Parts: sequence; structure tokens; C-alpha cells
Amino acid sequence: MKPRQSIQPVILQPAVLQPPVLQNSVVVFSKNYLPVSRINVKRAVALLVTGQAEPLDFSSAVGWIVRSPSVALHVPEHIRLTIGNVERSWKTPPVNRREVFRRDSHTCQYCGSTRKLTLDHILPRSRGGQHIWNNVVAACERCNSTKSDRTPQEAGMVLRAKPKPPVHPAIAFAEQFWKAQEFSPDN
Ligand SMILES: [Zn+2]
Repeated sequence: MKPRQSIQPVILQPAVLQPPVLQNSVVVFSKNYLPVSRINVKRAVALLVTGQAEPLDFSSAVGWIVRSPSVALHVPEHIRLTIGNVERSWKTPPVNRREVFRRDSHTCQYCGSTRKLTLDHILPRSRGGQHIWNNVVAACERCNSTKSDRTPQEAGMVLRAKPKPPVHPAIAFAEQFWKAQEFSPDN
């Protein structure tokens, strides 16, 4: 055993550790009241204190109190951006490998494989098929070469989903969000 020291030990502030409240998440709504994303409380605080967002209390939403030495800030469960217009700044991405693979979750749209992906034109380009979202899918090398210069019908292959242009990320988020909000009528 070490002898007791007369000097008080210095208690280090847990600067790296965050209080549990900061690990909660806040739903961000756009200026047009469309739920766009989920962010952590820390980011929400930054948006609130800089005036880029305001509390949005449309329900009996709970919130959190975040304290600093000088202030206590109430962070609601939902905030609304007061700036920008995220819906308008988004455009349908170009039809390229990266974007098509992303839309198709890096999965061959014929067999479900996630390996050796290529781009397949459903109606082959040699037969007038266009390089557009509705005519391009992710396909593995094998399916692509099996299909060759044929339509899926001619090749006896079935698409897992009808290809569509990707939706706005905020729309996709909103759909998920409202689905998750579904509650009983007496609520
Ligand atoms: Zn395949």
C-alpha cells in the first residue's frame, strides 16, 4: 500500500464521455414540416443555439434538458429547420453505377446476388433501350451474360422490383417516420 498523499487528487473532467442525454436523438423537420432526418441531441443543440432550428412541439413530445455550466437548454424531441429548403435543393441523381447500385441496395435485381455487379439495360441498348432510371438495374455478371441481348421475358428472368427513379431522401425518411408514428385511435 502506498502512503496517503496529502495533496487532493485532481478529478479529471470526463471530457470525452458524453452525458447520456446527448445520446438521444431528435427528429428534424424541414421548413415545410416534412420530417427529414434524425440527428443526435448534440447536433440539435447546435442548430437550436445558432438559430438554425426551432422547437417543434406538435405532440405530447418529451424532450431533454441539456445543461452547461451557465445555461440549461430544453431540447424537444422534434425540431424544425428555420433555414434552407432541403426539398428544393435535391435533384434526381444521374443514372450511373454508384447511384443505381445504391438504389438497388447493391443487389442483383434478378438473382439477389451482391457480388460482381454490373449495370443491365432491361430493354438492351442495342434494341433501343434507354439509359434511364426505369430501364437500368443492378445485375450480377452471370445474370447479365445469361440475359444477353434479350428482354427479361425473352430470357425467362424475373425482376425483383420494378425499377423507378430514387426518391428524395427526405420523402423516404418521411415515409418511414410516419409509419413509425402510427398509433392507436384512442391515443
Ligand atoms: Zn444475378
